[in-house]
Amino acid sequence: MRSYLSYLECTACGETYSAEEPHTICPRCGKVLFARYDLEAAKAQLDRDALARRPRGMWRWFEIMPVRNPDHIITLGEGDTPLLPAGRLGEVLGSGKLWIKDEGLNPTGSFKARGLSAAVSKAKELGITSMAIPSAGNAAAALAAYGARAGMRIYQFMPQDVPEMMRKESHQYGAHAYLVRGLINDAGRMVREGTKRKGWFDVSTLREPYRQEGKKTMGLELAEHFGWTLPDAIIYPTGGGTGLVGMWKAFHELEQLGWIGPKRPKMIVVQAEGCAPIVRAYQAGQRHAELFPNAHTIAPGIRVPVAIGDYLILDAVRASGGTAVAVSDAEIMRDMREMARLAGVFASPEGAATLSAYKRLRASGFLSPDDVTVLFNCGSAFKNAELIQAPTLPVLDPNDPAWLDQVA
Ligand SMILES: *Cc1c(COP(=O)(O)O)cnc(C)c1O
Ligand SMILES: [Zn+2]
Repeated sequence: MRSYLSYLECTACGETYSAEEPHTICPRCGKVLFARYDLEAAKAQLDRDALARRPRGMWRWFEIMPVRNPDHIITLGEGDTPLLPAGRLGEVLGSGKLWIKDEGLNPTGSFKARGLSAAVSKAKELGITSMAIPSAGNAAAALAAYGARAGMRIYQFMPQDVPEMMRKESHQYGAHAYLVRGLINDAGRMVREGTKRKGWFDVSTLREPYRQEGKKTMGLELAEHFGWTLPDAIIYPTGGGTGLVGMWKAFHELEQLGWIGPKRPKMIVVQAEGCAPIVRAYQAGQRHAELFPNAHTIAPGIRVPVAIGDYLILDAVRASGGTAVAVSDAEIMRDMREMARLAGVFASPEGAATLSAYKRLRASGFLSPDDVTVLFNCGSAFKNAELIQAPTLPVLDPNDPAWLDQVA
């Protein structure tokens, strides 16, 4: 088994760099680097059905993943999450073609596990021993877990209102965790300063080439699930955009391998009304997004006022004939409950936002009941317990002969 990784390439200026040494952003222009593979050789030698028969998990795609030596893989069993028919939720919405990819079942409860399994594995291979991350919580928890397994020193910087469970989780994994008076972009600036002075390796979203290689496996799984075709639409809760950009890259690589045809899903961005830089840029016809002022939403993972990969996200949305939608916190709260009640999925607020977007796009006619549509529930609501307001439950007395009268 060998990886067909060949080099790193800048997505903006096209400069190439060795993949055998650590890199973050393009040293020449400061934009995002992509891992490139020798897909021609891979096409001649790889059999997609053989990969499909391997034991479950995202590392079964080893040949088109960036780690050279399988011994360097740091895994907790991430990937191959359930792709669930929306069932009763679909019935209520009048579509039998709605699916939910439940990423909340990943280790550490979110799809950040995929990206950080890839990034930490590659970093270990390259001899890196300390890593730093700005995070709304889930990425920090995932980095802390994989870093713990790899025996690395992990530094993390999170907004002060980070959900309690994510903070506790990182502490248990032994990370050096700090709260920041500010948002994730402020934390990002601090990480960059610390990296310069302390020698940490910066694993911020898309400022490091390998997290998206982990997230691209979501796209590989979709292609395989649908019999090497792709759905009509994918709705993705977009913060930094790693998953959307990663899946789009996966589809390109799959076509190069000859495993799928040219058909692509409409790539649909959903953001919160209180923080919608990509939606704004999309509507304004721009390729780069401006910093979104006073960013606020109950969905921490998409409270990202500025993203280095904005042009990659917007290019994918436009090239695919997709769109970008902003939804309100009230819709998100309503749809967290609805995903739970009608589909049995305990969705994070970000995951619920995809349902809110789906409803809007059905109402506007952008999507039809016949469109095979995948909603990404990117994390588990176990991490967002403080958002969920359950009523106080009645307490029954087992010695009260009339206890059953109190049961509806
Ligand atoms: C990080 C995160 C997102 C946003 O993912 P990106 O790939 O950075 O756009 C969405 N939802 C949850 C739960 C997250 O943790
Ligand atoms: Zn460049």
